[in-house]
Amino acid sequence: MGWMSEIDGMGTERARCVLAPNPSAMTLDGTNTWILAEPGVGEVVVIDPGPEDERHLRRVLAEATAQERRVALVLLTHGHADHSEGAATFARLAGDGVRVRAFDPRHRLGDEGLAEGDVITTGGLELRVLETPGHTDDSVTFWLPADGAIMTGDTVLGSGTTVLAGKLGDYLGSLDRLRAFAAEAGAAAILPGHGPKLDDPLAVLDHYIDHRRQRLAQVEAAVAAGARTAREVVERVYADVDRSLWPAAEWSVESQLEYLRTRD
Ligand SMILES: [Zn+2]
Repeated sequence: MGWMSEIDGMGTERARCVLAPNPSAMTLDGTNTWILAEPGVGEVVVIDPGPEDERHLRRVLAEATAQERRVALVLLTHGHADHSEGAATFARLAGDGVRVRAFDPRHRLGDEGLAEGDVITTGGLELRVLETPGHTDDSVTFWLPADGAIMTGDTVLGSGTTVLAGKLGDYLGSLDRLRAFAAEAGAAAILPGHGPKLDDPLAVLDHYIDHRRQRLAQVEAAVAAGARTAREVVERVYADVDRSLWPAAEWSVESQLEYLRTRD
């Protein structure tokens, strides 16, 4: 037990996780910060430096700059504070001119963003950007073809399911898209923003898609049975879920209600 779990240090040939010490009901074991390095190349890319926690940021920097490597670029999967808050501090610690690229301009350092179809070729790596809104409006996923790895941020987690702050319709579209992409590309692993690495991307995505459909059916049934507010829906549908997660569940239910209202 404890935050120094098997998650810290996990990864693939090119990706290595440094687990941030911020565990909670919402962040599972903590935020996964990812260091990407092409073997034999001196420049590395860091994805989601994590919270504004200097000890964590210094630990990431020490791992990233081992063997005289240097940090060339910072990327964000989305703007939630547990992923992005420490990004600017980290970039400054990492050296002059280190930029932060994010979908949302508010989280960038420098003027380069991230958009669908971008191909990042820093440090001999190749990363492709997929826009996958739903967890948040600004969520992106990175595809690391050399390792067959999909880096999903909070769009797909290593355990449990994702809370939606974006639109459910967007999220369902993103899951379908990731499912199709993973099948076509032959993805071998999901490297999530929280929780362990997942070695069967298609099974995980099928589970996520089924879970969303089931929850949606439950919300529809609760509304049909007379639940009128998100809170009332949560009390019926999430009765078996820890109450500390109910506020987050209410967000998810809001987006489901919105989806049901605007569907058709
Ligand atoms: Zn998030």
